[in-house]
Amino acid sequence: MNADKFVPQHSHFDLPRLRSVQVAQCPALSTQHSALSTHTSTYLDFARYKSLSVKHSALSTQHSALFTFRPYQRKFARPLTTHHGVWEMREGIILRLVDEAGNVGWGEIAPISWFGSETLDQALNFCRQLPKEITSETIVSIPDDLPACQFGFESAFDGMGSREWWFDYFGCAQYKSAHQPGLRENLSCSGLLAAGEVALQQWQTLWQQGYRTFKWKIGVDAIAKELAIFDNLCRSLPASAKLRLDANGGLSYEEAELWLETCGKIQGEVSAEIEFLEQPLPVKDLAGMLELSKFYRTAIALDESVATLQQLISCYQQGWRGIFVLKPGIIGSPSKLRQFYQQHEIDAVFSSVFETVIGRQAALNLAAELSRKNRAVGFGVDHFFAQAAATNPESLWNNF
Ligand SMILES: [Mg+2]
Repeated sequence: MNADKFVPQHSHFDLPRLRSVQVAQCPALSTQHSALSTHTSTYLDFARYKSLSVKHSALSTQHSALFTFRPYQRKFARPLTTHHGVWEMREGIILRLVDEAGNVGWGEIAPISWFGSETLDQALNFCRQLPKEITSETIVSIPDDLPACQFGFESAFDGMGSREWWFDYFGCAQYKSAHQPGLRENLSCSGLLAAGEVALQQWQTLWQQGYRTFKWKIGVDAIAKELAIFDNLCRSLPASAKLRLDANGGLSYEEAELWLETCGKIQGEVSAEIEFLEQPLPVKDLAGMLELSKFYRTAIALDESVATLQQLISCYQQGWRGIFVLKPGIIGSPSKLRQFYQQHEIDAVFSSVFETVIGRQAALNLAAELSRKNRAVGFGVDHFFAQAAATNPESLWNNF
């Protein structure tokens, strides 16, 4: 097969397009947005739609595609400081698949090895050993120890033929999904605040951009200093704001107790809502987090503990019924996650791995499909990058 031989065609019916998440409240995109709406309604064929499986469009049939990939690097404007250390550069891989009809599918592998996924080198080695032409079988046989690869390849396969689903925009506080039965229509977005005092100014800029939920990194500095900033932050946030605290597993049990007590106390004094404390203890201490979740008013969310689907299943089996932070970019196979969702009712927050628009679009589609409670998705991270990345996959591909 040769990609040049393929003649691009309009697919009369593109399921992935139906899954697309568009942006609302973005003046810059309003024209494109309405163009998509018109186009989508022209091409919708609900009779055929109902006759297809919503869940496994591309992978359910034997399908092959030409495969190419490009590694990329994106520098953070402000290195991301968490309890895990300082992160200066996001590195990943963009995948491009082209099927016999000329349909292009984009995918992204954006590993975070210190969070529990494969390393970038492992992902690159996997891509290098693949043949130029791959099939749906290649994708379903990607091993579980390459979860970011599973996500990247499966979403690329699912996305083949959906050239017009790229209506993402950086810096938006809210996403609106395309009209599809069963999809959440709106996804509000949580804006990430850097650790330390800078958060006290940062939230105001994000508020003006429309953000109403914020996540602040803790467990980085001395606890007394962070508690003082927290007090200040809670008292300055407007009543309709929500605040999440993310410790990245950096607290001791006693420190977590102190944070939870302080949250409970301050919640009685301010109107802004403290939504949850994320991953207070290290991954190995699930028992401690199960214990803490019983005694305090402030909810606890697991993040590092549920980085991959295997970990999610394990924590669920061990009795976790609190909030799960899911990072589609590293969790593994979207279709296996859907299977888990069909069997279990979980309260999940979907979150970014600092991916480009390609991984983000696939992750948001999954969030729009699976989100049950009205929790903001954690994709407000663009202000951490030095340069806004291109908002369509072709330009990204050509620039890397
Ligand atoms: Mg987290």
